[in-house]
Amino acid sequence: MCGIIGYIGPRNATSVILNGLRRLEYRGYDSAGIAILGAHGIHVTRAVGKLSNLELRMKNEENDSQFSILNSSFSVGIGHTRWATHGGVTEHNAHPHLNDAGTVAVIQNGIIENFVELKHELQAEGVRFRSETDTEVIPHLVDLYMKAGMPFVRAAFAAIARLQGSNAVVMMSAQEPDKLIATRLGNAGGIVIGINPDEAFVASDIPGILDYTRNVIFLEDGEVAIAQAGQVGVYRLDGAPVSKQRHVIAWDPVSAEKGEYRHFMQKEIFEQARAVTDTLRGRVNFETGEVTLESLALTDTGTGRHGDKGITQSPGRPVTLSRIATVACGTSKHAGLIGKFLIERIARIPVEVDYGSEYRYRDPIVEPGMAVLGITQSGETADTLAAMSAGKERGARLWAIVNAIGSQAERMAEGVIHMRAGPEIGVCSTKTFLTSIVDQYLLACALAQHANVQTFERSNVDSFSLARDLAHLPGLISQTLKPDPIYEALANRFHDRRHFLFLGRGINYPIALEGALKLKEISYIHAEGYPAGEMKHGPIALIDERMPVVCIAVQDGVYEKMISQIEQVKARGGIVIAIATEGDDAIGRKADYVINVPAAPELLTPALTAIPMQRLAYEMAVRLGCDVDQPRNLAKSVTVE
Ligand code: GLU
Repeated sequence: MCGIIGYIGPRNATSVILNGLRRLEYRGYDSAGIAILGAHGIHVTRAVGKLSNLELRMKNEENDSQFSILNSSFSVGIGHTRWATHGGVTEHNAHPHLNDAGTVAVIQNGIIENFVELKHELQAEGVRFRSETDTEVIPHLVDLYMKAGMPFVRAAFAAIARLQGSNAVVMMSAQEPDKLIATRLGNAGGIVIGINPDEAFVASDIPGILDYTRNVIFLEDGEVAIAQAGQVGVYRLDGAPVSKQRHVIAWDPVSAEKGEYRHFMQKEIFEQARAVTDTLRGRVNFETGEVTLESLALTDTGTGRHGDKGITQSPGRPVTLSRIATVACGTSKHAGLIGKFLIERIARIPVEVDYGSEYRYRDPIVEPGMAVLGITQSGETADTLAAMSAGKERGARLWAIVNAIGSQAERMAEGVIHMRAGPEIGVCSTKTFLTSIVDQYLLACALAQHANVQTFERSNVDSFSLARDLAHLPGLISQTLKPDPIYEALANRFHDRRHFLFLGRGINYPIALEGALKLKEISYIHAEGYPAGEMKHGPIALIDERMPVVCIAVQDGVYEKMISQIEQVKARGGIVIAIATEGDDAIGRKADYVINVPAAPELLTPALTAIPMQRLAYEMAVRLGCDVDQPRNLAKSVTVE
């Protein structure tokens, strides 16, 4: 994902920023820009494409008299590599963005959920927007508050307080050039501040500043830093100062990569708002709700392979699918089960889900006109690849959802949707689970909007507003990741149990399967996941006062059913740990423990309820002293049958 670098101090800010952005290139971006305080105010240069384009542009400007640095002992600037979420990939959408007077420059990572409201409010004040980004509301808001008499820092705090969603923002101003303001809201983008005796650095990721300093502080959700050369103050949004722990980043690359986290799995759990933001980038138009998946053609040209296989399509006609067979293993199989709910509900296309290891040997019924969808994090999972081949050989259209770019699954498939989760080091999948759910949600919306239009009953759900709901998902995930002492408390209380039961219904039943799998994988506690309605057909016999039962009971279409399951567990003396919607007080009177997730549209709830499963398993494994990142007998990429 996009990168942020800021610098204030005696070095040449331009070279520190460009070097830092280059170190963050691995996260991906589509354009870049830089703002440097010069003798004549803030000077912005932006370019589409690689950093080398930006550098070329800056070289050409070097002789420009406007572009002279303020003085030789002090240099300040901010730089950004953008990966678009709002508005196309154009120079005027690249960051930094300025207020009208050009005195405030802002860069941002993430999604401002309420940007449409803010934009309308600013337009009513006469502000003219020069980009289609959500980011541009920020410099104009700061400007509005400054015009109302606030000094820059207060205006910046006031503007930040208006932003909803999960964001990282950095700003500078010509009026108070000795300061950079940086904030982190939610978890979609981190902010790390590096401090040396006479300088300060701001970055979205540690590698961006490691060439200059190892002394850092990490901002938490809702904190604002005022960074000055050699010092930094951190405050809550209401202005209350926060005392921060300084970290010294170790030199070995593994510790450096883990940053503030103890394990990769923990880091990857907390990266999920950001990973999901990356999954959405450039694929959803948040104003119209239209979804486009870059490498998945949903029209047929009437020639080529599908024509050969007997699918009769006129040029440019929407693809017609009879059904989809999803093939996957482990966590990806659970993601596929959620995808079945999503695709059937949103696009009204039937979906069957099978284990890769089973599909390949069961002589599957495949007809041209159906699609086989393989889901694999590594793209190298042998069983999934074999199942995909079985589908392809029999004439199905072959699609893949993968994280590893260029992997075998991607090379085999005709259409691919990348998870964009970034490298996942922990063997136990976390962020690739969430991103593959989101990929299938996007696929469902794209199918509903672009495929099967003549053949199938259109879904009665509005796929455009469903797509727009996605803008809130990173913020909701951030809320689900808030510090909560309940996980440690549960680990302390139940780490000695040998068995756990997980129950869910409807779209959250696969989350029960995933919760059980997480616990088994990393803490070696035996766990069963069941659709709750099945409990009475067997597992109820296991329930006694030693059996913890995790019940996913959020306020969705099957909430009442889940409540009655909870009552049945309680009636047999079981211990209920409920995953419930925030504000549901009634459930607290029934369950022994409650873990809250924020209220969300039903189809997005699995992306939230999955998180308590991960956090519970993680805490349990840590409490038991297990090797969290490399659990015994497991491998990250299962390339054998
Ligand atoms: N929403 C911003 C945009 O589309 C964020 C970009 C980013 O995270 O790189 O410009």
